Amino acid sequence: MKKFSVAEMARQQVEKASRAMNLPDAIRNILMCPKRMLRVTFPINMDDGKVQCFTGYRCQYNDVRGPTKGGVRYHPSVTEDEVIALAAWMTWKCSLVDLPYGGAKGGVICDPLKLSERELEKLTRRYTTEIMPVLGPNKDIPAPDVFTTSKTMAWMMDTFSMISGYTEPAVVTGKPEVLGGSKGRKEATGRGVAIVSRELYKVLKRPLKDTRIIIQGFGNVGSYAGLFLSQMGAKVVAVSDASTGLVEPKGFDIAELMSVIEKHKCLEPAKTGRKIPRDEILYQDADLLIPAALENQIRSDNASRLKVNLVSEGANGPTTPDADEILEARGVHVVPDILANSGGVIVSHYEWAQALSGLYWEEQEVNDRLEKKLVRSFAEVWKRSQDMKISLRTAAYVVALERINEVYKYRGIFP
Ligand code: NAD
Repeated sequence: MKKFSVAEMARQQVEKASRAMNLPDAIRNILMCPKRMLRVTFPINMDDGKVQCFTGYRCQYNDVRGPTKGGVRYHPSVTEDEVIALAAWMTWKCSLVDLPYGGAKGGVICDPLKLSERELEKLTRRYTTEIMPVLGPNKDIPAPDVFTTSKTMAWMMDTFSMISGYTEPAVVTGKPEVLGGSKGRKEATGRGVAIVSRELYKVLKRPLKDTRIIIQGFGNVGSYAGLFLSQMGAKVVAVSDASTGLVEPKGFDIAELMSVIEKHKCLEPAKTGRKIPRDEILYQDADLLIPAALENQIRSDNASRLKVNLVSEGANGPTTPDADEILEARGVHVVPDILANSGGVIVSHYEWAQALSGLYWEEQEVNDRLEKKLVRSFAEVWKRSQDMKISLRTAAYVVALERINEVYKYRGIFP
C-alpha cells in the first residue's frame, strides 16, 4: 500500500482551492513548497547515564505575510512530511483569520510519556539551541502542540533569552502567565472550536441545546471544546483519548473528566460512562463530531461509517481529501481545521502583541476579541461557500489564498 503523505494531502487541498478561484500558476507553485526546512539531530544525557540521539524539525512554510508562527509537537510519529503539512496549514490559517503571520511548525521524534521531567527539559533546551538561528520574535515564534505545554514554552523562552543575553518573552506564545503568557490562551483553541460550532448551528437554524457531541482526543483542545459546548447546552455523549473510549448517552460532566486527566494523565481510570474500544468513538450515534487528536482519522475507508452530519475539526488535518468528498456527497458540513482550531493562534497573536508592547490585557478583552474575530471569519467562509457553491474547507482556502495572493501582488518576487 502507498504510504500516506500528509504533505501531499495539504498540497491537494491547495490545488482544489486554486482551481476554484483561478489562483495564478506562479503563486500556486510558490505555495506548493516550504520556504525553509531545518532538520537537527542532537544528543541528550539520559537519567540512566546513557547518551541518546533525537531528531527534530522546524519548517517555515511561507513568510510573505509576516514572521512565521506554529507549534512544536513531541510525538514518536513525528516525520518531516507531517511537519511540512502542519506548517502549510498554519500558513493558510493565519491568512484566513488575517493575522500578520506566515506559518511554521516544529517537532521532535520522541515519546514524551517515557521521558522524565529532567530529560524533557534537556531535550527542549537543546532542540531550542539547535533551531535558534531561525527563531526570534520577528522571525519565527513557536507555541505548544501535541504533548508540549506552557512549561515547554517556558524552557524555550528561557533558553533563547539566556543565549541572547536578554529576556525575550515575545519569542514563544502559550507561556505561563507569570512569564508574559496571555490570559485565555490555554482555553483559546477549544473556545474557538465551540464558537465556530455554535455559528454553524446558527446558520443551519438548528438548536445547540441537547445536540449530541463526540470528542476524539480529550487533550487541551478537546477538553475545552467539550467544556464550552456543554456550557452552551450541548451534551458530550462520547469521548476518547489514546487510552480508551467512553460513552454516556445522558452527557458527561466535562469538569469531572478534566479532573481525571489532571490526576491520571489519561481517561482510562475514569469511573463514569461505558468503556468502548478507542477507535469505535468515531462511529457512535451523535450529531456533531469534534476530532481533536491527530491527522488522518477520517479517511475513505471509514468516512461512510460516521453517523454524525456535522464535523468541527479541532485537530489539524483529521480528514483526508478522499473522505472530504464522501462527506460532501452525504451533505455533512465540515468546519475545516484552519478555521475551527484557529482560536489558539489568534490568542497567540494577542500574547505576542502584549509581550512586544509590555501592556497586558484582562481575560475579558482577550475573549471578546477572539469571539469577534471568529464570528467574522466564520461568516466570511460561510458566505464564500454559499456564493461559490463549494465546501466550507475549499471556501476557507479561497479566502486564505486570496489574501496571500494580494500580498504577492504588492511585494512582487524578489529580486
Ligand atoms: P494534547 O496533547 O493536549 O491532546 C491530544 C489528545 O489526543 C490526548 O488526549 C491524547 O491522548 C489523544 N490521542 C492521541 N492519539 C489518539 C487516538 N488515536 N485516539 C484518540 N485520542 C488520541 O494536544 P492538543 O494541543 O489538544 O492538540 C490536539 C490537536 O489539536 C492536534 O492536531 C493539534 O495540532 C491541534 N491543535 C492544537 C492547538 C493548541 O492550541 N493546542 C491549536 C490548533 C490545533
